[in-house]
Amino acid sequence: MPQTIQNVVIAGGGTAGWMTAALLRRVLSPTIRIELVESEQIGIVGVGEATIPPIQTFNQFLGIDEKAFLRETHATIKLAIKFENWKTQGDSYYHTFGAPGTTMGFCSFHHYWLKAKQAGLAQSLWDFDLNYLSCQQGKFNKINTPNPLYEMQYAYHFDSALYGQFLRKTAEQAGVVRTEGIIEHVQQDPDSGFITALQLTNGQQIQGDLFIDCTGLRGLLIQQALGVSYEDWSHWLPADSAQAVPSERFDKTLPYTRSIAHRVGWQWRIPLTHRNGNGIVYSSQYLSDDEAGQTLLNNLDTKALDTPRTIRFKTGRTDQQWCKNVVAIGLSSGFLEPLESTSIHLIQSGIVRLMKMFPNQGISQAMVDLCNAESKDEFETIRDFIILHYHVNQRDDSDFWRDMRNMAIPDRLAQKIAAFEDTAAIFNEQSDIFRDASWVQVMMGQGLDPKDYHPAADAMDNAQLMDAMQQIYKAKQQPLDKLMNHDEFIKRYTA
Ligand SMILES: Cc1cc2nc3c(=O)[nH]c(=O)nc-3n(C[C@H](O)[C@H](O)[C@H](O)COP(=O)(O)OP(=O)(O)OC[C@H]3O[C@@H](n4cnc5c(N)ncnc54)[C@H](O)[C@@H]3O)c2cc1C
Repeated sequence: MPQTIQNVVIAGGGTAGWMTAALLRRVLSPTIRIELVESEQIGIVGVGEATIPPIQTFNQFLGIDEKAFLRETHATIKLAIKFENWKTQGDSYYHTFGAPGTTMGFCSFHHYWLKAKQAGLAQSLWDFDLNYLSCQQGKFNKINTPNPLYEMQYAYHFDSALYGQFLRKTAEQAGVVRTEGIIEHVQQDPDSGFITALQLTNGQQIQGDLFIDCTGLRGLLIQQALGVSYEDWSHWLPADSAQAVPSERFDKTLPYTRSIAHRVGWQWRIPLTHRNGNGIVYSSQYLSDDEAGQTLLNNLDTKALDTPRTIRFKTGRTDQQWCKNVVAIGLSSGFLEPLESTSIHLIQSGIVRLMKMFPNQGISQAMVDLCNAESKDEFETIRDFIILHYHVNQRDDSDFWRDMRNMAIPDRLAQKIAAFEDTAAIFNEQSDIFRDASWVQVMMGQGLDPKDYHPAADAMDNAQLMDAMQQIYKAKQQPLDKLMNHDEFIKRYTA
């Protein structure tokens, strides 16, 4: 075990590799050498276009200019995901990054809304959410005001391959060394099993003290070399395939992702400034590749620019994200389908966790164990959130949806659903990247209808509550005048 880490080697240069390289170089002392090995011949997974708001913090920390970033990655603004046909065919709801209403007292806004609904309130929960109202109008603007009622959380849609290239420039300028080559063999210390070097096909050896596995679904170091086992979650999330195809730019780019459920699986539509990203996620147990490809092509808004490309995966995670002197970041550490756009976020949180626990005088097993426990919790809460979308459905048009509804789900998720149905309460773990408002929107959107609300909402009588609701509703409408058409915003902001 090395006493101090002097050489960090990143294997792989996809989004994960370059995000890791850029952040490590920003944080670590320049005396620590960082080298990234990647192979253009092997290439990258080349999909992944939707993100969640914490990516802004990541970019800001790297000192990235938002306008340059938007321009170079052909990015658009993402305020929400619109889920279509998920509860029943024809029904839709939004999971926005905003929060309906405002802080009103001890409990969350939705408890007050539930009470008001019983008293005859006509507006939906979403009518109190500025993100939703902006999506409806296809508008956005950066509103600079301390008023929390006008707060609008956003993320981006972007071309992740271009984002990788953008970060590559940042990282190389800051001193990261890039080596082109194919890793053929991984050398390990015969006693400790620690990785000592990567052997390339051209004979070059890349030695290091700490290795970051960013080799994607192959998991070259963590799975293949160290033999860390993979926990398979496909009994809960049976999708094992995706087909992706770009299509021509839509004449009006929407500030949200569309997730459209089909008879089996679902399709994404992501607007970029130069094209649309599309793909279908499905289980090969229920749908053939031909049918999936045809469904995808039949449901495009615009002309396909290519033929669909198939990607296979197994949903789950490696039992350890950190083993010996290898930390897995990105798809090498696990795969969760992109329903809630969480993979790039998992890269970000994995690097931040590594940075917080970065070994100084040698690798501490206690630290490794804590890191692994945190990562496990994080993956599992996201997994449960994704299962929720599938499980709570009322569709009856295929075995797929019936099986998803009838399957046994993880205990923790079953408890969360039961608690929400009984009391409208949300139990949010610390590791959960989704806030109460996210769970509420998806639970209600998928058709859960709580029997009760928190008694704190009874502190207001019906007349006071209805009055408060109308004031919040009016306040939420006010900033809409300050917003502009989303395309216009992108054009002006990035000019
Ligand atoms: C269908 C689909 C849709 C997705 N959509 C989203 C989304 O909307 N939002 C989101 O956040 N995420 C999404 N993701 C996930 C996202 O694409 C990935 O998290 C992200 O691209 C990071 O991938 P990666 O860098 O881990 O792997 P990769 O991009 O596969 O990179 C692996 C790197 O390792 C290198 N490599 C591998 N083997 C060797 C070798 N032997 N020698 C040298 N180099 C090697 C490759 O050359 C490459 O540089 C999606 C994934 C899929 C499959």
